[in-house]
Amino acid sequence: MREQTNLSEQTIFSNAKLADGSLVDLTVTGGHFSAIAPAGKTPPADFAAVASAIIAPLFVDLAGQLVVPAFVEGHIHLDTSFYGDAWRPHIPCTNGFDVRERVAFQARNLAAAAPMAERAKNQLELCVGNGSLTMRSHVMVDGSVGLKHVETILAVRENYRDLIDIQLVAFPQSGILSSPGTAELLDEALKLGCDLVGGLDPASFDRDVKGHLDVVFGLAQKHGAGVDIHLHDGGTLGLFQVEEIATRTKALGMAGHVVVSHAYGLGDIPADALDKAGAMLAAAGVAIMTNAPGNHAFPPVAALRQAGVTVFGGSDNIRDSWWPYGDGDMLSRANMIGYRSGFYEDHELEAAFDVVTHAGAKALGLASYGIVVGASADFVAMPAQHVPEAVVAVPKERTVYRRGKVVARNGTVLAR
Ligand SMILES: [Zn+2]
Repeated sequence: MREQTNLSEQTIFSNAKLADGSLVDLTVTGGHFSAIAPAGKTPPADFAAVASAIIAPLFVDLAGQLVVPAFVEGHIHLDTSFYGDAWRPHIPCTNGFDVRERVAFQARNLAAAAPMAERAKNQLELCVGNGSLTMRSHVMVDGSVGLKHVETILAVRENYRDLIDIQLVAFPQSGILSSPGTAELLDEALKLGCDLVGGLDPASFDRDVKGHLDVVFGLAQKHGAGVDIHLHDGGTLGLFQVEEIATRTKALGMAGHVVVSHAYGLGDIPADALDKAGAMLAAAGVAIMTNAPGNHAFPPVAALRQAGVTVFGGSDNIRDSWWPYGDGDMLSRANMIGYRSGFYEDHELEAAFDVVTHAGAKALGLASYGIVVGASADFVAMPAQHVPEAVVAVPKERTVYRRGKVVARNGTVLAR
C-alpha cells in the first residue's frame, strides 16, 4: 500500500523487525509511514526519489532491531512530580491512607519545590527518553491552586508540541462537591484547553456519587470533552461506581471517551460480579487504566480484555507526595503489569505490551497509530528478538523516533 507524499523529506529504514516477526523496510515521507515492504524489496522508485530529494536523503539500517510503535503513557501527573528535584522522603498518613492528608502533604512539598514547568519538563523528557510520544496527564484543579497548575502545564504542552502529544485532564484533586468553586474551575480549565474532565472517588471523597458524576458528565457534555475518573474505592463500593459510570456513558453515547483510572474494586470482587462488570464496561465503551500498583488489588487485565474491555497503562505518580516509585518507562510498566498479572506465556506477554501501546492508543482515541502506512512515524527501535522478550528483558538501549527523526537515544532526549 502506498500514498502520495512530499518526497523532499524521505527516509528509508531498512531491516526493521516488526512484532509479527517479519523483516521489513519502512519508508517514511513527510513524517509518516508511506510504504512498508519486505526487507530488500523496497521499490527502486523510492530509492530514486530519495536520491533526488531536495533535503539530504537518509538511509538508516536498523540491522534487525525490533521496531514497535512509540509507547502510550496513559496516566501521569506532570504538575506534582519532583523528578529531577531534591529527594523528598515519603511521609506516611497518620491513621491509614487518607487522600485529604496526602493532599496536605503534597501542598507542603510543592511549596518548597523547583518551578513546576521545570519539574514537568524533567518528567516529560524522562518519558520521551524511554519511548513514550503520547501522554495523558491529569492536572490538579482546586480552590487552593485555582487554575495555576493548568496554565503552567498548558504552556509546557505548547513548548513540547513537536516532541510529544499531550492530553490534559482537569483533575479535581480535592473533590468537587466538598471543594466549593471547583465545578466552575473545571469549567474554566476546559475552556482554557484541557481535553478531559476528571473526577475523584465520588463516593468516599465527595460522599455523593450522583452529585459528583452530574458535574463531571455535565461538563463533558457541555464541552464535548472526554472523562477520566480516579477511582480508588474497593469492593462493592468501587463496583457500584464503575456501574454508575458505565450506565451514564451508555446513556450519553460517550463510548470510547470515558476512562476509569485504577478501578481497584474490580480486583477484589467475586468472579461473577467481575463478569457482569466486564460485560457492562465493554458494552458501554468505558476503558480501564491500571499501573499495577504496589501492594494493592488491581483490575484483572486478562479477564477484562477477554470481556472486550480496553485496558491500558500509565505510570501515575513518579517521585511525588503519593509515592516514590516510577521510572517513566512504559516498557518496564508492561513488565510490571505482566509480572503482577502472572503472565508467562508469549501471548500473555504480548497482551501486557498491548496495554502500553495499541490499547493505550485506543483509550486515548488516537486517530492513527502503529507501524502502518499513513500513521505518524513515531516508533522505538531496540535490541530484542521479539515483543515477549522485550517485555521481560526491558532493554534500555533504545532509539526513539518522532515523525521519522531521532529524538532520544538510550534514555536521553537529544537537543532540539
Ligand atoms: Zn493519578
